[in-house]
Amino acid sequence: MPHYDAIVIGTGQSGPSLARRLVAAGRKVAVAERKLFGGTCINTGCTPTKTLVASAYTAHLARRAADYGVTIGGAVGVDMKAVKARKDAVVGVSQRGVERSLKTLDGCTVYEGHARFIAPKQVAVGDTTLSADQIFINVGGRAVVPPIPGLDQVPYLTNSSMMDVDYLPGHLVVLGGSYIGLEFAQMFRRFGSEVTVIELGPRLIAREDEDVSRAIADVLADEGIDIRVGSKVVGVARQGNDVAVTVEAAGQTSRIVGTHVLVAIGRRPNTDDLGLDKAGIAVDARSFIIVDDELRTSVPGIWAMGDCNGRGAFTHTSYNDFEIVAGNLLDHERRRVSDRITAYALYIDPPLGRAGLTEAEVRKTGKPALIATMQMEDVSRAYEKGETKGFMKILVDRDSRQILGASLFGLAGDEVVHTILDLMYAKASYTVLQLAMHIHPTVSEFLPTMMGELRPLE
Ligand SMILES: Cc1cc2nc3c(=O)[nH]c(=O)nc-3n(C[C@H](O)[C@H](O)[C@H](O)COP(=O)(O)OP(=O)(O)OC[C@H]3O[C@@H](n4cnc5c(N)ncnc54)[C@H](O)[C@@H]3O)c2cc1C
Repeated sequence: MPHYDAIVIGTGQSGPSLARRLVAAGRKVAVAERKLFGGTCINTGCTPTKTLVASAYTAHLARRAADYGVTIGGAVGVDMKAVKARKDAVVGVSQRGVERSLKTLDGCTVYEGHARFIAPKQVAVGDTTLSADQIFINVGGRAVVPPIPGLDQVPYLTNSSMMDVDYLPGHLVVLGGSYIGLEFAQMFRRFGSEVTVIELGPRLIAREDEDVSRAIADVLADEGIDIRVGSKVVGVARQGNDVAVTVEAAGQTSRIVGTHVLVAIGRRPNTDDLGLDKAGIAVDARSFIIVDDELRTSVPGIWAMGDCNGRGAFTHTSYNDFEIVAGNLLDHERRRVSDRITAYALYIDPPLGRAGLTEAEVRKTGKPALIATMQMEDVSRAYEKGETKGFMKILVDRDSRQILGASLFGLAGDEVVHTILDLMYAKASYTVLQLAMHIHPTVSEFLPTMMGELRPLE
């Protein structure tokens, strides 16, 4: 039985970086990957979707060309085969990069196959059994497919099978009005599909504040997306070449007939076939691996990083998990999950950049706070670019003057939010923003102006 200092299961957003660090520290490392190197982010998540969003944005802007005095001279067309080919090319570079970097790493042995615990410190990959002193789980997650009657009888799509779509769905019905569903909804609407979004909750992306949720719904509805909130999908069936989705809303039943159905109602961890019981590794009620603040599982010498531990659902949280584990094990640091500040973006256009608490969460703390808001229409850079949809909102602790949170829904919101995030990590007063000289014309230059208009959060 080959013995290693460390086994890394899965090549998501933390495993490969940790394998490199361990090898650099002189450890003998085995890495197991059952499918595509680079995991969700590179193959079926962030990279392909943001590449597709770029194509969709270009189509949208091309249709608005006349607004900018630009003549296209005909209808704007979208070549879905070319869109997919561009996406595949971008994905391929990253995917091959991760694979090559691991396979050519001295001190690292790559096993291709499904890894499964057979004992606390033993893992089987196919016919080979490996043992190690330390094991790092980075197995990620996959789309939840709910037990909706009839769903298994139709060729539904998930974020993974969407990657093979090289045609224009006539009418895409998206089940789920949250982050993943909305990105696909807007991109396919911009490619030219009819799109309906069906959301069970009373509003889209319920984790966000109501005003943010409303502004996002307005942008999507303006582009012609049919949004059905408070709607429960109770059945799915074939109807000729189409798919009929039966929905209950406000006591009424109706049918939405589309050509394709995308299931985007949530993610579940890839922990069901990992032999965790053989190793005695504890999971919670939703099958996420239970970890402590330093990402140790219930079994000494075994860590869980990335989406499978339920402590984050993003590439940057998974990468940060790697930094925490590497920092604690190799750099004599004391890094903890609870030290990180919530941060993420929704990549519709315009994007939503988020840091820290929402307004609703700040209210729940009961602490005295200040709030500032600004419409993107009042931001000259947005006006100049003809992209004035959305608004920005920042919340501040009244006494410490530290920033508590921000929701920046508008042009470059995904980038501008980092100014806020860095100030939050520095635990600096918001007044630092007002002392700094910013570049004109940018969205960021308006942050100090906004902070000049802080008012009590009533
Ligand atoms: C459509 C979509 C868009 C997204 N967009 C963004 C975004 O814009 N920004 C962002 O931050 N996040 C985004 N995410 C989330 C992001 O992709 C994940 O949070 C990120 O990939 C972290 O995953 P991970 O490191 O936990 O593992 P993953 O990337 O999921 O990788 C896990 C790896 O483990 C392998 N594996 C699993 N089980 C086994 C086993 N038993 N044996 C061997 N190998 C195994 C898998 O094959 C896979 O390669 C998006 C997700 C989706 C679905």
